Amino acid sequence: MTGPAIAIAGLTACSGCQLTLFNCEEELPLVADRFHFAHFPMGISEAEECGPLDAAVVEGCVSTPEDLETLINLRNRSRLLIAVGTCAIWGGIAAMKNNESRKELAETIYGEAAHALRTFVPGPLHRFVTVDFTVTGCPPEKGEILATLSALLHGTLPVFPGYPVCTECRNRENLCLLIERNELCLGPLIQSGCNARCPAVSIKCEGCRGPASEANAAAEMELLLEKGFSRDEIVGRMRRFYPEWDHERRY
Ligand code: SF4
Ligand code: SF4
Repeated sequence: MTGPAIAIAGLTACSGCQLTLFNCEEELPLVADRFHFAHFPMGISEAEECGPLDAAVVEGCVSTPEDLETLINLRNRSRLLIAVGTCAIWGGIAAMKNNESRKELAETIYGEAAHALRTFVPGPLHRFVTVDFTVTGCPPEKGEILATLSALLHGTLPVFPGYPVCTECRNRENLCLLIERNELCLGPLIQSGCNARCPAVSIKCEGCRGPASEANAAAEMELLLEKGFSRDEIVGRMRRFYPEWDHERRY
């Protein structure tokens, strides 16, 4: 293999982002041919290399000393560090319970073995290192992963639209769940790119792609309160995939 040297690594997560790459079945041979995979434990079982990297693509959030060691090692070696998936960027699934007592949660799941856990409160990558680029989604869309890899081959990075899910939803001429059914759809706040997958089948957007860059959370909060939803329910929904979302933020 020749081409840019990259690492693909997973921290605490479900591995769904890496699986999305494996699901790019038609394109995988091309990807394998164009890149030099220096570190890719989920995809290549050969001994890993420890030289410099052109890019490190990292899935998952940081919740163990081993996660942190892997992340810092990749950051130190790599020209670009790319956070892939909602967990890596916002906390996502792994951080969903960050607003509850970690001790109680651990004891509920692991009982007496909880005290031996070497974990800490899960956090996104940018809390620990500089992140150069993000590809959001739970998991990200295949096209966005491939666009990122393709751009890397040309020494650049892609530009993804910054508008919210609602724009894609209205382009598809869906019935609006928020306006017409009074359901707590997060589409006005959430980063587009999924082509409004859920509202297109009458399921409200749960926010799995994290906030759009110009999401006006405070204005949306006022609208939803006026519609009769409770503040607790709204905040709980906004923070499901992004536990630190500032729901008072206004543009
Ligand atoms: S259904 Fe949801 S995503 Fe679609 S337009 Fe309404 S609020 Fe936006
Ligand atoms: S509509 Fe919302 S919940 Fe559904 S895939 Fe898109 S961002 Fe995720």
